Amino acid sequence: MPRGRTALLFSLLLLLSLLAPSPAARAQPADAIYSGGPILTMRGAAPEYAESLAVKDGTILAVGRKLDVARHAGPTTRQVDLAGHTLLPGFIDTHGHMVYFGKNLVDADLFGSKDIPELVARMTAHADKVPAGGWIVGFGYQAKLMADKRTPSREELDRISTEIPVMIVDSSGHAGAGNSKLFEMAGIDADSPDPAGGLFARGPDGKTLLGPMEETALNAVRSKRPPFTGALAAAAITGAAKRWASYGQTTAMEAGLGLGSDDIGIVLQTIEEKLLPIDLYVAAKDSTVDAALAAAYRVGEAVEAADGTGDVATRLLAARPDLDRRYVNRVRLGGVKFWLDGSLDTAWMNEPYATNPPGKTGEYRAYRQIPDEVLEAAFNRFWPSDFQIHMHMNGDAAADQALKAIEKAVAKHGMYDHRPVFVHASFLRDDQIAKLKKYGAVPSFLTSGLLPGGEAVVQLWGEDRAAESMATRTMLEEGIPFTFSHDAPVSPEPWILELVRCGVNRKTPSGRVIGPDQRIPPYAALRAVTAMAAYEIKEEKSKGTLEAGKLADLVILEKNPLQVPSDTIGDIAVLETIKEGKTIWRRGEK
Ligand SMILES: [Zn+2]
Repeated sequence: MPRGRTALLFSLLLLLSLLAPSPAARAQPADAIYSGGPILTMRGAAPEYAESLAVKDGTILAVGRKLDVARHAGPTTRQVDLAGHTLLPGFIDTHGHMVYFGKNLVDADLFGSKDIPELVARMTAHADKVPAGGWIVGFGYQAKLMADKRTPSREELDRISTEIPVMIVDSSGHAGAGNSKLFEMAGIDADSPDPAGGLFARGPDGKTLLGPMEETALNAVRSKRPPFTGALAAAAITGAAKRWASYGQTTAMEAGLGLGSDDIGIVLQTIEEKLLPIDLYVAAKDSTVDAALAAAYRVGEAVEAADGTGDVATRLLAARPDLDRRYVNRVRLGGVKFWLDGSLDTAWMNEPYATNPPGKTGEYRAYRQIPDEVLEAAFNRFWPSDFQIHMHMNGDAAADQALKAIEKAVAKHGMYDHRPVFVHASFLRDDQIAKLKKYGAVPSFLTSGLLPGGEAVVQLWGEDRAAESMATRTMLEEGIPFTFSHDAPVSPEPWILELVRCGVNRKTPSGRVIGPDQRIPPYAALRAVTAMAAYEIKEEKSKGTLEAGKLADLVILEKNPLQVPSDTIGDIAVLETIKEGKTIWRRGEK
């Protein structure tokens, strides 16, 4: 481990020991005391309620019986009446893409476009808001769900503008289209070859660009987009953070920093301008990890070198007197992200699919995305460190690749508390679940993604694999920590209670229950977005439960999720989100 991180870790431990509650601290009056509604601490395997909770200087001063907590009341203490509403630890995003989501926010919203004329109209309306030098970009349409059942053509997009590049990207992020100006700016013409792993749609002559593009071809064009800087970058970040807070989250994640070439710059600007009201855990895309680490070390060294002379580092530290100094102005680089396979119809499996996706023949099992050696090198490098490895995987063959890399790292370095994250981990065999437990890996399930797609999963993977997918009941019985994550913008919103609802009921929109044996109680599902979520990102010492000494990261819900019909958990309103004692979002505010 480079010296900088180790030193930061020691300063964190020292700080934690200094901040342990002492008799003197207990005598101090609280800033606020909450009571008058259920206070669910999320500690332990069964629900535990407190009557009252006191906050002081951004941390929880006391939680427990009303009479005991009342001892912390002073003349300046604010008494907050929950009025029957429920107080919980702030929710933690364990796999989302807040930066990517933010960029989409400043683009035209194409979700739910009924047909191509509507899409073109939305893009045209958006064009006025695009700053000079920018592109007109829209995100979120689904070609299959539009009346035209196809992606708009280059000629149709030329109606929006012939002077400014126009780019649309579908809700999966893997396909899109552009106008003539876009291809001109990107230097792509009829004679340009398709890149490996992607394609530009062509006319009957096999050359003329029709507009639509997929995968690496789309990425090649997208990478030419002018970078998000200045006010545009700030709007993207603050808009996304507000959206996260509106769903009760006090910690967000960007699990793919480097998907855009301007991402590191955006995050550095976020730190410098103190743009975030909530914490942001960043995992750098595999190819970006060295650049991201270099940037993080520069920030970290600046913080360490602070000497009170009023330089940037001193200002950064002064602005963030929190418990966990791994964050600098609410941002920390926590890990690296690899993609081991694709989505539901490209999940890399050991056994053939039950039904092949369209266009696939023979015994289809999908395929690997990266060589074993690449992943093994990463584990060799990061396994003994604090820097977590996150791996996107849907099929069991992808999980095998991950487990093999972990086994090699353990053989070489010994066991460490690394907590590799198995992102999605949609289908794992029982023998893999046993290994997951042995090596301390944490699966993060996209419950709200697999279940609406449940019928498709049954068809693609067959009844058995679908029923055993997201094996939450098995994990609960085995004592394996697991989390729920929305992967927004893959989920259209960074919702949390919707994840809980889907994890509890495992019901598709048509009412079919996928794997009834794997359903879990609402309390266990809530732990997957609070206590276990904090554990996944190695922040359980300061977040995830309501306990004295932890951060006062809180959410107030209109109703108690443990006392409503489980089908309605997703509909419970978030009334207020509180980060370190400060209200950062309230229902009704924009
Ligand atoms: Zn993701």
